[in-house]
Amino acid sequence: MAPRLRRRRHKKPPSVAPMVVTSPTVVTPVPLTLEKPGPSIDALGFFSLDNNVPGLSKLILQKLNMKSYEEYKLVVDGGTPVSGFGFRCPQEMFQRLEDTFRFCAHCRALPSGLSDSKVLRHCKRCRNVYYCGPECQRSDWPEHRKVCQELCLVAVDRLMEWLLVTGDFVLPSGPWPWPADVVQDWDTWFSMRGLQLEATLDAVLSSHAMTVLWASVGRPRPEPDVLQGSLKRLLTDTLSRPLTLGLGLRALGINSGKTGRSTVHVVGASHVETFLTGSGDYNELGYMFPGHLGLHVIMVGIDVATSFLQSTGSSTPETGTILLSGHRGLYHDFWEEHVETGQIAHPDMAVAFHPGFHASPTLMETWLPTLLLLRDYKIPTLLTVYSHQELAASLQILVDLDTHIIACGANPFASLKPEQVYSNPNKQPVYCSAYYIMFRGSSWQLDKRQLEENIDGGV
Ligand SMILES: [Zn+2]
Ligand SMILES: [Zn+2]
Repeated sequence: MAPRLRRRRHKKPPSVAPMVVTSPTVVTPVPLTLEKPGPSIDALGFFSLDNNVPGLSKLILQKLNMKSYEEYKLVVDGGTPVSGFGFRCPQEMFQRLEDTFRFCAHCRALPSGLSDSKVLRHCKRCRNVYYCGPECQRSDWPEHRKVCQELCLVAVDRLMEWLLVTGDFVLPSGPWPWPADVVQDWDTWFSMRGLQLEATLDAVLSSHAMTVLWASVGRPRPEPDVLQGSLKRLLTDTLSRPLTLGLGLRALGINSGKTGRSTVHVVGASHVETFLTGSGDYNELGYMFPGHLGLHVIMVGIDVATSFLQSTGSSTPETGTILLSGHRGLYHDFWEEHVETGQIAHPDMAVAFHPGFHASPTLMETWLPTLLLLRDYKIPTLLTVYSHQELAASLQILVDLDTHIIACGANPFASLKPEQVYSNPNKQPVYCSAYYIMFRGSSWQLDKRQLEENIDGGV
């Protein structure tokens, strides 16, 4: 049967990247040099900050020494901004970054909107949210108390993340000493990496980089167990994507050891998946499948970082290696130009991290051709979402699209790093890839067969 996609496809280019809206605004450290990242927000997400906190997008640009969102985007993409960007010293950089969080969590006032006698002060417990005065803090407490403890972790993690950017925190690596099928979740992964991981974390904790970091950030250095907890969360955040891919390959029964090379398409990939992502970052996926014959992971999306496109190859992976490559564009166009023409292999699996199509009709419109394509070509597909609520909403849409849902639930390799909703800090933090959904093909055939079975059975 000809895929139904052909009849339904429409080619209206999207005005925004097919993602984020409801995703948290992830602010990563902005290094002193030009080619490193700023906050990971797409245009829509960036300006929607102002809905919650009027003027916040302007404040961010101002604090980061940027004139416009275009310039900001250029820097995030690895380009060189027109106006002067960069900070004189780490202290200034961390101060500026912290300033982008400086608005009253209760009345939303920005520093510029306060009278001279007033300053914004942070909550002493979490050091994460700010208040214009004791009245606002008191009124906010019933709401804030629900998230204060979790936001305390966020405030530490967003500083510690700097060590990943500078390369001072290198994740433990190497073949898995345990059989891969034993390692089903983070607990077993941590047990397996046990001593090696401890040595790695100890080395980072006593490093010069750690000392410099805490000397620069204008707050006391937390206890070692707090810092160690943070490093572990950052580690799960980095490895969540490759291990979730592995989870999908396993669950969908794709045997990478016997059937030759495997190809995975990451659909709707953006900066989040591609910025600062190097070829070694998916090695953990390879260790999950010892003896595999080569895995090719292709990131496809309109916001794939330029630096990623430049640093990754497009050849075929050798036995036992993982090859990352990228393609900038919409997935259904990529399919037509590269997959249908036979230049690139059909994927053994497609993955979309936080597609967000449940969030708005605009995003749904952007995703529809891709979802129909994946369904009609019966590509085993794995999606991740941030919360149980998003899981329910996304499932409903996929059911309405007649996809055949194979599995869904809590992801054993979800990121354990809480993500704050930037402009709405009292909103419950979320976790990347907290839940997953897998589907393959259409439920239509199944329903028909079931119907026939029922008729045969005399029902
Ligand atoms: Zn206030
Ligand atoms: Zn607090």
